Amino acid sequence: MQVKAPRGTYDIMPDDVNKWHYVERIIRQTAETFGYAEIRTPIFEHTELFERGVGDTTDIVSKEMYTFQDRSNRSLTLRPENTASCVRAFIEHSVAGGILPVKWYYMGPMFRYDRPQAGRYRQFHQFGVEAFGSNNPAMDAEVISLALEILANLGLTDYELHLNSVGCPQCREIYREKLIAHIRPVKEQLCADCQTRFEKNPLRVLDCKLNSCQAAIAGFPNIYDYLCPDCSEHYSQVRKNLSDNKSSFIHDNQLVRGLDYYTNTAFEITIPQIGAQSAVAGGGRYNGLVKACGGTDMQGIGFAMGMERLLLAMASVENGPINAPKLDVFLALMDDKYEPQAVQILSGLRRAGIKTDRDYNYRSAKAQMKYADKLGARIVLLLGEDEIQRGIITIRDMQSREQSEASTEELMAAIKAILE
Ligand code: ATP
Ligand code: MG
Repeated sequence: MQVKAPRGTYDIMPDDVNKWHYVERIIRQTAETFGYAEIRTPIFEHTELFERGVGDTTDIVSKEMYTFQDRSNRSLTLRPENTASCVRAFIEHSVAGGILPVKWYYMGPMFRYDRPQAGRYRQFHQFGVEAFGSNNPAMDAEVISLALEILANLGLTDYELHLNSVGCPQCREIYREKLIAHIRPVKEQLCADCQTRFEKNPLRVLDCKLNSCQAAIAGFPNIYDYLCPDCSEHYSQVRKNLSDNKSSFIHDNQLVRGLDYYTNTAFEITIPQIGAQSAVAGGGRYNGLVKACGGTDMQGIGFAMGMERLLLAMASVENGPINAPKLDVFLALMDDKYEPQAVQILSGLRRAGIKTDRDYNYRSAKAQMKYADKLGARIVLLLGEDEIQRGIITIRDMQSREQSEASTEELMAAIKAILE
């Protein structure tokens, strides 16, 4: 029986991993220039953390979690997202007692029982940030700008930033009533999910992906019209800050997050050219979340970005720098009797930080040249009978195709001269 990777998972093979390294490097550099520090939390957590921190009316918690009992009958869940874990760590390490705000980023695999398709997997990767301890609209704008800066640094310019405000629990309550009143008469036309969730969580209906639900609720009231003066001011400050920074955005009435602990800013970034799964990042303010997870009253804002979708988007963009790192030197040796010299040369070069590989199969010189070419080696060193007799090494520059000789003592300098 041949065992395959589970549905919705995939291998990142060595030929592709360089693209991941590139994206990861750009993301880290950008996040660090914005003053964010990396946090790494466990891949699994107690199930109740996500029930509380993500919310048990969400698709994630109600349908998508990988939950299992461990050998002590604890219910654990592979993290479907990382915000709840960050909040847990924030509380567990009493971070609120230190200097605020704190700004964290994370990167790593997430797990959801989603329907696999292009840009949607069961194990996928997210980069994200969380900034705790500030309600300044400038912080909302910073978080959004960081997401945009990453896209720009990856060469992705054809994105759309969708922006909305979901207000605070007070003004949202009034809106909620209006929305329920609007939806109730058309309830029968909604999908089963929306019918069950609309009384408890009517904002989720705005978020439903079915066209039939969207058609049914057409003309729904606009949350923007119900924002209280504080929330309205916060939203206009965020927009002003983004405009000051020359970022364009689309006000999107339908962009909502249904849970009570989400407040004010909600945003999503899409890259339409990548197709059906065009959302690359989603985020917003969650001033009620830390408290909902058992901490103090603490403002927070963050986003999560889907890394597979970034790579999908990059595949449609000319992108030079993501080529595989090539080999500097390939050491061709024709017989096992040259092994003593070979290991010394190899170790010396590697210790000097020169990317070096060697032959292990003692093939013909011609076959080894072909192999070295395939590895992208800049230089090939030849070690054969003639070289050993004369106490030299043959150096072949694979670009100019020129050949020279060097003694063991001269070798390093000769190689460095070519590499420079
Ligand atoms: P969707 O509505 O597409 O299911 P979501 O609301 O579940 O998205 P978030 O929880 O906001 O998505 O996650 C943030 C980002 O993570 C998404 O914008 C997307 O880029 C990425 N993402 C989410 N789920 C998956 C998945 N199953 N596979 C790949 N990327 C994903
Ligand atoms: Mg989803």
